[in-house]
Amino acid sequence: MSAYDDSNIFARILRGEIPCDKVYEDDYALAFRDIAPQTPIHVLVIPKGAYVSADDFSEKASDAEIAGFFRALGKVARDLGAVEPGYRILANHGRDAHQEVPHFHMHVFAGKDLGRMIKPADK
Ligand code: AMP
Repeated sequence: MSAYDDSNIFARILRGEIPCDKVYEDDYALAFRDIAPQTPIHVLVIPKGAYVSADDFSEKASDAEIAGFFRALGKVARDLGAVEPGYRILANHGRDAHQEVPHFHMHVFAGKDLGRMIKPADK
């Protein structure tokens, strides 16, 4: 895996160099609306630490960072009112998953029936 590149767009958002449509922030995580939403509610939750992907985060982040990140993720979904109707969380890692931004992030999709996770034809 490549080393963390601190010029990536989410690192720049964390440094306040470019704006975002923020929905939540605490010591461990920042959440903001995706610039090209794929569902009525599409929010990205990112850790404040410099981790390339889910693989990097799960291997190198501290227990406090991992707990803080997932607490934030759950709070974001609750605050969005997505718990009762339901939501989907998703993280892309690497080439086959088409990860575009090399700073670990989880997508929160909600606001409509999201269908099955993977279409049978995609297997
Ligand atoms: P991924 O393919 O999992 O790396 O997804 C990256 C996501 O970041 C895409 O859904 C993009 O629309 C989103 N994105 C890229 N730039 C920005 C930005 N400046 N603000 C908000 N979302 C962004």
